[in-house]
Amino acid sequence: MARTISVLGATGSIGASTLDLVRREPCQWQVVALTANGNAHDLAALAREFSAHVAVVADEAALPALRDALAGSGIEAAAGQAALVEAAARGADVTVAAIVGCAGLAPTMAAIEKGGTIALANKEALVSAGDVMTAAVARHGATLLPVDSEHNAIFQCLQGNDIAHVRAITLTASGGPFRDWTAEQLQRATPAEAVKHPNWSMGAKISVDSATMMNKGLEFIEAFHLFPVGVERLRVIVHPQSVVHSMVEYRDGSTLAQLGPSDMRVPIASALAWPQRMHTPCTPLDLAAIGQLTFRTPDELRFPATRVARDAVVAGGAAPAVLNAANEIAVAAFLAGQIAFTRIVQCAQDVLARGLPPAPASLQDVIAIDAEARARARELMEPVR
Ligand code: NDP
Repeated sequence: MARTISVLGATGSIGASTLDLVRREPCQWQVVALTANGNAHDLAALAREFSAHVAVVADEAALPALRDALAGSGIEAAAGQAALVEAAARGADVTVAAIVGCAGLAPTMAAIEKGGTIALANKEALVSAGDVMTAAVARHGATLLPVDSEHNAIFQCLQGNDIAHVRAITLTASGGPFRDWTAEQLQRATPAEAVKHPNWSMGAKISVDSATMMNKGLEFIEAFHLFPVGVERLRVIVHPQSVVHSMVEYRDGSTLAQLGPSDMRVPIASALAWPQRMHTPCTPLDLAAIGQLTFRTPDELRFPATRVARDAVVAGGAAPAVLNAANEIAVAAFLAGQIAFTRIVQCAQDVLARGLPPAPASLQDVIAIDAEARARARELMEPVR
């Protein structure tokens, strides 16, 4: 029987990979909602192709274009934040949360409240909401399956084992495009260089996060919430080949790792089919051709983001939401050519240093903390010299 699916952030990189898998098994899926920010043209084309019930753009200015493009299709068109939440709240067997940034939090929470399966790519939502989100998952009987390749790897390595027997969880990091750059070179890194990831093809924001290593910092916080082993059992290791996607070490000395090609369709397929397995068209790993898998300790002097994120998770409360919001503003400013690459993580540190609001107890609290931290980060933006 076909399962229903909604894709929040359908026009993005994760959205495209998800819909590529859905396209290959059309009888297995019935598409409920597809959403985008302002890309009405591509969203309408996807909604028509997959006969979605509803297509939503977050940006209300894009609604006329969406309506035009869907004219005569019978597909509902809607716009704005409330419409995004309403579309997610229709519920689906699987909701793929693939909006970038904290903008995805409210719709993801709406899907969680329906109690279905949430395939979570939108790490910023979990980083910001933390306990508020995990409590909602428990309260509504939802299933949260990680799509981030590292967390999906860890999830797979934990299957059939007792989490109480875990000695350490190690997140692997490619190190990004600048892993071998000197501190001086990093000062001059451009947006075009930062978005050129050596192993993965991804949206601009996560590509910059990979370059600063803030992506791994956010993933550290994500892992803290998904896998309750305690912060002291979470590690990060640089693994330039991105073949081992993460590892779990058990108390008997066994380390389980998940390996796979650098193609997000693999972890997405794992979440879509779980607890089964589905076919993907991904090129299988050729370990003999790869030859060597190497590992090294992260350099937190050149790339302080993992340390900043670890400190934020230890501080707890509002700190991760503040960190995430400041980082989002700083990454946007860097991409717009307004600040230097090395200012991104510094900006997050500066906003955190200005003091923290009380810990959030609700979605509204998280949204308010996020808005305030964004305002503070904007104040700190300096033009590039
Ligand atoms: P993209 O930038 O490629 O796509 C983002 C999607 O979100 C687009 O559909 C975009 O719409 C939509 N969107 C952007 N801003 C808003 C907003 N304010 N309100 C509503 N929708 C919005 O991002 P990715 O696919 O790369 O990443 C998505 C998420 O998945 C991120 O959280 C990222 O960290 C995570 N992730 C991504 C991986 C990857 O390989 N790409 C790997 C692991 C995690 P529009 O097209 O109209 O702008």
